[in-house]
Amino acid sequence: MKYLGVIGHPLKQSLSPVIQQAALDHLRLDILYEAWATPDDGLATRFTGLRSPSVLGANVTIPHKEAALVAMDELDDVAQKVGAVNTIVNCDGRLRGYNTDPTGFLRALREDAGFDPSGCRVLVAGAGGAARAVVVALTEANAVSVTVINRTLPRATKLIDDLRSTSTGTVLTPLPDEPSSWADALDGCDLLVNCTSVGSAGSPEEKDSPVPVELLRPDILVYDLIYRPTETPLMSAARQLGCKVVGGLPMLIYQGAASFVLWTGREAPLAIMFDAARQALGPAPVSGEH
Ligand code: NAP
Repeated sequence: MKYLGVIGHPLKQSLSPVIQQAALDHLRLDILYEAWATPDDGLATRFTGLRSPSVLGANVTIPHKEAALVAMDELDDVAQKVGAVNTIVNCDGRLRGYNTDPTGFLRALREDAGFDPSGCRVLVAGAGGAARAVVVALTEANAVSVTVINRTLPRATKLIDDLRSTSTGTVLTPLPDEPSSWADALDGCDLLVNCTSVGSAGSPEEKDSPVPVELLRPDILVYDLIYRPTETPLMSAARQLGCKVVGGLPMLIYQGAASFVLWTGREAPLAIMFDAARQALGPAPVSGEH
């Protein structure tokens, strides 16, 4: 028996054990995927444990993705660029860190929304860890411009400053979360990506939209990274206006599938992973896409 797990704190919201175990069982692999809830003061011991021959690797989630970056023996270029690790592979006792979020984001954009960001103008709401992965993905995919609006402007400015030197083909602009910023940035925008937690189930803002929805136009693709609920207030409002909409579930599955390939060398059974996630999330609303 070999082991995998997700490292985070707390972990009760993580869908990774459900989707990864379903995939492992489907392929009859003798691997157990566990939830490894790890507070800050247990992180060093946890990383040491990953070097054991019985451990194939791990996922890393909030709040340890940045701490994992500095604990690795080797780093993949994408993880380095994002500044965070979400997947660790144990290579004979050496830990190699990856970040599969940009791959998952782009795959969902291309395959589920049928949208190629090359040459497009994009507005990103939020400047946290997910936004960093999304901006890296969009610059790698040759978006012509990416504007980042965040409640805390210095965080957006730092994100852009960190990525500007490696994103030469894309114009990157941070803006404050003010009505005039939204109006300017949505004017001529092709794609809006919500990378804030506003609208997520159980949060104080679960009934809110991070974006003034009256400024949306039907030709904007609206992509909300939130997967719980499967239909956020932003998604519902955008759908009613006639926008094409994609939620966070496909990205969640595709980033997990990319991790699965890194650990097992096997193609991930996507349909099985989608089914397991949908079952764990409960029934989708009637108007929902996923
Ligand atoms: P994070 O690092 O904590 O960042 C949270 C972001 O939300 C920050 O930009 C924060 O702004 C903003 N925010 C929080 N409350 C707000 C409010 N009341 N008003 C305006 N902005 C607010 O979290 P993260 O890791 O980036 O995750 C963000 C979301 O993406 C979460 O809902 C997460 O579940 C989702 N996600 C989905 C996937 C997927 O695979 N589908 C992957 C990763 C993340 P400040 O900087 O001002 O605090």
